[in-house]
Amino acid sequence: MGVTVKISCTCCKAQWQCQIGCGITHGELKQVTALFSEDVQKEIKNCIGEAMFPWFDFHYQLSYCKQCNSIESIPYLDLGDSHTKFIGKCAKCGQETELIENIENLPCPVCHEKSLIAEETGSWD
Ligand SMILES: [Zn+2]
Ligand SMILES: [Zn+2]
Repeated sequence: MGVTVKISCTCCKAQWQCQIGCGITHGELKQVTALFSEDVQKEIKNCIGEAMFPWFDFHYQLSYCKQCNSIESIPYLDLGDSHTKFIGKCAKCGQETELIENIENLPCPVCHEKSLIAEETGSWD
């Protein structure tokens, strides 16, 4: 089950709602692969090769999109070694985003203060 988080800025009061983690449907690699663009889908298939039950780790992760100046959740797929991580693009503008490691270190996209906080507001699947 994934969680819904509310990111808010204590300085300018800007807010974002994001869903992170993964849901029931993301237990299957096929479903997960479908979230990526066609090029990436091909790459993923190449990486998996003939494996019947390939190991993978998938979740939505918080990410900062410069283009949208916004915090988005993007699909993140790890196929098990350092060469096989697939990071989705921004769902709104299709551009690459920057993964957010620690929300407290990210300047607010609106007021540029480091005053973002995250709180869990619910769950989804
Ligand atoms: Zn702010
Ligand atoms: Zn974007």
